[in-house]
Amino acid sequence: MNNVYGIYGASGFGKEVLPLVKEQFGVESKIVFVDDGNVPNKLLGCDILNFEQFVNHNGKKRVTIAIANSKIREKLTVKCLEKGIEIFDVKASNCVVLEDEKMGEGSILCPFVTLTSDITIGKSFQANIYSYVAHDCVIGDYVTFAPAVKCNGNVHVGDHAYIGTGAIIHQGKPNRPLRIGKGAVVAAGAVVTKSVPDGMTVFGNPAIEFTKENIKRRT
Ligand code: UDP
Repeated sequence: MNNVYGIYGASGFGKEVLPLVKEQFGVESKIVFVDDGNVPNKLLGCDILNFEQFVNHNGKKRVTIAIANSKIREKLTVKCLEKGIEIFDVKASNCVVLEDEKMGEGSILCPFVTLTSDITIGKSFQANIYSYVAHDCVIGDYVTFAPAVKCNGNVHVGDHAYIGTGAIIHQGKPNRPLRIGKGAVVAAGAVVTKSVPDGMTVFGNPAIEFTKENIKRRT
């Protein structure tokens, strides 16, 4: 039976993931985009199917969810698994993955991503170009790193956290990791020097809570 590789999300990130899927499975493999939105029927030479069309397509279907929004990623992961569609991992050939890294399914590691040693990562991690995760970090499920995130050692990142472009997360200590809470958002360019509670958005250097007063104070 032929394999069909679906890239869920025919938008910006999907476009960036396409060359990685080609590199991984060969340019001759059957690759389609899957998208439920009001989108054209082709993108970068590949067909765009809606979910139903993808499910009914001939062959063994596998999919990667190439959408930055983690809640959507979780919803679509569950929907695909319910239909028996396997989720595949994507990893650029120039990623550096050192020792003892444990990772859940559905990750997308973009070009130049580096994961150093003794790291534990949950399901559906997305690490965009040039991001790194250093030693002894623990990353939850459905975590998203925008480009060039610098996550230093002994940092714990909660489920569904979003770390913006170029953010720097200072290192924690082995007995007292720096924690980024569940669902927390770190704005682009932030420098995080202390733990961030669940659900909080932080910005700036050093990063503080994103509130009207704090924005005024910093501008
Ligand atoms: N999308 C989808 N099903 C959903 C939610 C979103 O197919 O349940 C598609 C949406 O139509 C869009 C893409 O996912 O084409 C997300 O694109 P966006 O530019 O918002 O995200 P990015 O590519 O930046 O992650």
